[in-house]
Parts: sequence; C-alpha cells; structure tokens
Amino acid sequence: VKKNGKNGFQFFSNELDNQLLLRIELESDLRKAVKQNEFILYYQPQVRASSNEIIGVEALVRWNHPTKGMLSPGIFIPVAEETGLIYDIGTWTLREACKQMKKWHSAGGPLIPVSVNLSSRQFHQANLVEYIRDILQETGLEAKYLELEITESMMMDADLSTEILNKLNDFGVKISLDDFGTGYSSLSYLKLLPIHKLKIDRSFITDITQNTSDQAIVATIISMAKHLNMDVIAEGIETKGQLDFLTENACKEIQGYYFSRPLPATEVEETFFVPYRQ
Ligand code: C2E
Ligand code: CA
Ligand code: CA
Ligand code: CA
Repeated sequence: VKKNGKNGFQFFSNELDNQLLLRIELESDLRKAVKQNEFILYYQPQVRASSNEIIGVEALVRWNHPTKGMLSPGIFIPVAEETGLIYDIGTWTLREACKQMKKWHSAGGPLIPVSVNLSSRQFHQANLVEYIRDILQETGLEAKYLELEITESMMMDADLSTEILNKLNDFGVKISLDDFGTGYSSLSYLKLLPIHKLKIDRSFITDITQNTSDQAIVATIISMAKHLNMDVIAEGIETKGQLDFLTENACKEIQGYYFSRPLPATEVEETFFVPYRQ
C-alpha cells in the first residue's frame, strides 16, 4: 500500500507497482530462504564427446521455494546480487559443491572436478581467496578439483582481477571463462591471466548447424584455446548435429541436454558413476 494524502491508503494498481510488490516479496522470501537454507545444488555432467565419459560437473543452484516449487537461478540470482544475499548463497554453494565432490571422491566416484559459478560481487569480495582456501581445507577437497567459472565482464578491472586470479592459481584452483564470446572485452587479458578453460556460450551453439557466422566463431574459439594451451568446452549441446560440428572441429568436451540435464546428486551417481551402480 502507499500513502494517499488525507484519504489514507490506496492499493497499488498499475503494472509497475505490481512488479514492485513482487520484487519486494521475492526479496523477503529470499532472506528467509537464506536463513532456512532452502537451496539445493543440481549437477550437470560434462562429458568427453568421444567416449561419453564424465569429466566434470557444473554445480547449478536451485531454490526450493516453500510454495512456488523449484525456482531457477535466473529468477533469484539477480535479486541476490542486488541485495548482497549472494554472499551467503555463494558461500553455501561453494561449500556444498566441495563437500559433495569430496564425498564422491572418498566413496570411489571418478576423480573429476566440480565447477562453481562466481557472481561478480563474490568475485570482488575482499576475502574471496581466503574463504575459498578455508572451504577447501574444511571439506578436504584438493584445490585442483575446484574450477571457478567467471565471466569476461569481471575482468574489466585488469589489475584487480589479475591479483585475485593469480592468488587462486597459486594455490591450485582452476579458472574457466564462462559464456565466452558474449562479453565486451579485449582478448589481451587471455595472455595475462591464468585462465585454464574457455566455455563457449550456448548462444553460438544453438544455430551452429546452419549459421556460418556461428560456425566461424566457434571454430576460431576452439583453435584459439588450443594455441593458448587452454582447454575448451562447449555448452548447450542439445542435438546430434551440434555435437557432430563440435567433434569435427576438435572440441572434445561437451555439456548440454543432449547428454544430461542438471541432476540432483543421487541421480548423477546412479546414471554416471559406474562404481556406484552394482
Ligand atoms: P550458466 O553458468 O551459463 O549455466 C548454464 C545454464 O544453461 C544452466 O541454467 C543450465 O541448466 C542450462 N543448460 C545446460 N545445458 C543446456 C542445454 O543443452 N540447453 C539449454 N537450453 N540450456 C542448458 P540454470 O541452471 O538455470 O542457470 C542459469 C544461470 O544462473 C547460470 O548460467 C549461471 O549464470 C547462474 N547460476 C547458476 N548457479 C549459480 C550459482 O551457484 N552461483 C551463481 N553466482 N550463479 C549461478
Ligand atoms: Ca556456468
Ligand atoms: Ca555458461
Ligand atoms: Ca549462460
């Protein structure tokens, strides 16, 4: 409600006010969700195209909302970023992903890394490096099994990002550039920064069987990664045709619905970990 002079109160009526109310409700629900820990991680397998072998998983957060059901990060991560709730959500996500991966390793699962997305505010958090080190220590996961996914836009402040990435690299954490090719940034940071992997964005993959520009861009990214001694993975592969283009162009690592959607941990075990089956 909003104040309406001497007539007391009047309910919000127009579309904009409705959106504002929804936003306020979402924010208040999100605060509760952080307190009550309503989040869950799904894991999307990354596979070697030639063998279908699992080579990693990306942790993707979901919010199990008490009345609205499972909400995707696209809905709440932007609000979490704006409000600073991302610090708590991000810390939980990192710890949970490392804990799960360590659990899998200890139980005879494949020795593969987990990728965790970092938001811009998390990346610029003053104690990021220290708390990542603490989480690794606490969970017992070796640093080389943690990959952090960052985006080009976080590299805008070259000096700061160099400092952060070098520190992370020094204790063995891997860095992937997510959504590669979609940001507005120069390529020069690729030679300055310790980046281990380029993730080709889904927007270049969607029409790749027909669109010759996408084909040229993707082939160039793959070749550039190779020459820079970086790994490269394509995301958003949904069809055999897309897969064929990538394998013909020597992109060996693949992530997408064609192989698997993001799954709860137990389903990853059942579907992808041979020692867990019996
Ligand atoms: P992203 O990092 O680019 O993650 C890939 C998104 O594409 C995921 O959506 C995934 O489910 C979806 N995807 C994977 N394969 C396919 C496919 O073959 N086709 C299609 N159409 N989509 C596919 P999701 O899980 O909804 O995540 C959306 C975004 O939310 C992520 O994009 C990431 O930017 C962000 N996000 C997710 N989890 C976290 C997190 O823990 N922390 C932060 N800061 N951001 C997160
Ligand atoms: Ca990602
Ligand atoms: Ca991505
Ligand atoms: Ca994306």
